[in-house]
Amino acid sequence: MTGPVPVLMYHAVAREPNALTRDLSVSPEQFAEQMETVRGLGLTPVTTAGLAAHWRTPSGSALPPDPVLITFDDGYEGVHRYALPVLARHGFPATLFVSTGWIRGDHDTGGALDTMLDWDQVRSLAAGGVEIGGHSHTHPQLDQLDDDALWSELVRCRDVVAGELGARPASFAYPYGYSSRRVRARVRRAGFAQALAVGNGLARRGQGPYALQRLTVRRSTTAEEFERLVQGRAITRNFARDRALTKGYAVVRRARQVRRKAIAARV
Ligand SMILES: [Zn+2]
Repeated sequence: MTGPVPVLMYHAVAREPNALTRDLSVSPEQFAEQMETVRGLGLTPVTTAGLAAHWRTPSGSALPPDPVLITFDDGYEGVHRYALPVLARHGFPATLFVSTGWIRGDHDTGGALDTMLDWDQVRSLAAGGVEIGGHSHTHPQLDQLDDDALWSELVRCRDVVAGELGARPASFAYPYGYSSRRVRARVRRAGFAQALAVGNGLARRGQGPYALQRLTVRRSTTAEEFERLVQGRAITRNFARDRALTKGYAVVRRARQVRRKAIAARV
C-alpha cells in the first residue's frame, strides 16, 4: 500500500509572465531544474488516473515505490512550449487540467488570464504522455453556482475535451481548489473518477478520490524549498498558518466577491 504522495500543482511556465499569472508561474529554467530534482531524488511521476486507479484497487495496478504527480492547471501555452520538452526528455508523465472555455479555438469564451494553449497543442501534450483532465469550462468558483450552472460547467468541460481528444476526461481539478459535498457529488455524476483540490498537504488514500490534496509550486519557490516540498518535509511548518487562513477564509471570500475581477488573477 502506498503512503502519502506529493502532487505538485503548477500553472503557467513562462519567461515573462503577466501580473495576473506571475506568482503561480515558474520560469522554464526553474521547471527544468525541479524535474532534475525529481529525478535526482529517485521519484517516479505517474498520472492522476494512475494514482487513483491504484488507490481504488491496489491489486489491480502497480505503482512505483516513490510516486509523484506533476499537474498543470488552466492550460497555459508555456506548458507546451517549455514543460513538454523537459517532460519528454525525462520520460515523465503529467496531468494537464484544462478550462475548456479558456483554450484558444472554437470553444473560447474569453476571460483567460494569459496566452493559452490551442487544441492542437493540447493533443500534442496528450500524445506526449500528458493526461488531459477537466478544470470546468469558464473557471468559476463551483461551490458558488446554482445546480444548473454547476452541471453545465462540468458537462461542457467533459464534452469539449471528449470532442477534441476523442476520449472523456477521467480526472478533474476544482478551480481555485474550491469544492463542497454538492460539487464533489456532481463531479462524480458527470463521470469524473477522481478530483484534485489544493490543500498544501500530501495526497493520501484516506482523503477519498474527490478531495486529493496538492502542493503549490510558485515562482518564489527556491530549489531548497522545492526539495523539501516534494519530499513532504515543508508541510508541517506551514500547517498552523494554513489553518488560520482557512478559518478567516469565509470573511475573506465575501470581500473578494466584491472584487471578482481581482480574484480572477489569483489562480
Ligand atoms: Zn485554475
